Amino acid sequence: MDLQTKALHAGYEKDSQGTMAVPIYMTTAYEFRDVEHAANLFALKELGNIYTRLNNPTTDVFEKRFAQLEGGEAAIATSSGMSAIFYAIANAAEAGDNIVCAKQLYGGSLTLNTHTLKRFGIEARFFDVHAPEQIEALVDDKTKVIFFESLTNPSIDVADIEAITKVANKHGILTVVDNTVATPVLCRPFEHGADISVHSASKYTTGQGLAIGGILVERKELVNKLKNNPRYAHFNEPDASYHGLVYTEVGLPPFTLRARLSLLRDLGAVVSPFNSWLFIQGIETLALRMREHSKNALALAEFLESHPKVKKVNYPGLKSNSNYENAQKYFEDGACSGLLSFEVDSLESATKIVNATELYSLVVNIGDSKSIITHPASTTHQQLSHEELIACGVPEGLIRISCGLESSADLIADIKQALEA
Ligand code: PLP
Repeated sequence: MDLQTKALHAGYEKDSQGTMAVPIYMTTAYEFRDVEHAANLFALKELGNIYTRLNNPTTDVFEKRFAQLEGGEAAIATSSGMSAIFYAIANAAEAGDNIVCAKQLYGGSLTLNTHTLKRFGIEARFFDVHAPEQIEALVDDKTKVIFFESLTNPSIDVADIEAITKVANKHGILTVVDNTVATPVLCRPFEHGADISVHSASKYTTGQGLAIGGILVERKELVNKLKNNPRYAHFNEPDASYHGLVYTEVGLPPFTLRARLSLLRDLGAVVSPFNSWLFIQGIETLALRMREHSKNALALAEFLESHPKVKKVNYPGLKSNSNYENAQKYFEDGACSGLLSFEVDSLESATKIVNATELYSLVVNIGDSKSIITHPASTTHQQLSHEELIACGVPEGLIRISCGLESSADLIADIKQALEA
């Protein structure tokens, strides 16, 4: 089935009312038929609804539909993109372990990996996304995850997914890819050897800046990588917190199963059924929107590249961009999503330009149908030092744009007047 068809139909069986739209099951809990039924559900002898912190029929459709778009086996929705990322890492690593991650990451992921995970006893080691050969020297027996973004925010680099997953697979290490900016419409990391993908559904999935949510997807047959892999003993040994369950022996996708039964159960960053419903609406038009976002961004990037006040434009769809080859290899029809950034000579110039735009909203978000302008150094990346900013490719004169669905002529005209104001 084609991706666009799955976006409309996957994961939903109409209920007895024949409801065309997926219903919003706004409920905290579910009635069990009798004690035996309840016991069977808790023991996983029977699958079904228990309590909305663990599962919900509306969220179930969102999870199944998204998993199919990504080409994965199963998914678990969370209350935000950050909780999906944290769960992906915490499901693989524990105190004393380390993760190897790209330097070029979303600011929230950088602070999570650098500072917050340290408080949980997990060390983060960094490689340059342009140099996957650095990974080999960073991994050891305690490395549990290699983490990177397929299309990085805000530095707009394209990861060489196959080069990264090749090193990971040589050592039997799980790769976790944040595929938020590319979305499954443009890039499907599992086709290139990745194991887990995570997304902030708050971006292109909802599409109109309506809700916060996240999703974690597990590739097909991941059980074969986890089973008897000494790196992941906790997937192969009885879980004392769940009646001695061995996750690789249940016959269900083990990574999402453990994330649900252990992390969602105990930490509880669950998505609201209403937000799941909004994400389902967004998915229906995701493919159409991603094509338009990409077209607008390319037109704007070409304009910016020709402007004398612009030092550098970061958009992988430009032939001059160092990521162009990877974008052609990994992205559907070479379309590169709506995110671009450009650099002007100083913090002062960047501030002046951002303040002078009229059509673009100064907002710390991406993936909205309305265009957004951001100055990362004073907002999303404010917590990083000057050195950390340079290391992750976010100089102080960098302006990030999330191209919306307005006409490209209007978007270009507004940025032109702001540059020349
Ligand atoms: N990953 C990327 C690439 C992001 O851009 C963001 C947010 O901007 C996140 C993750 C975090 O998502 P959320 O805001 O839904 O927690």
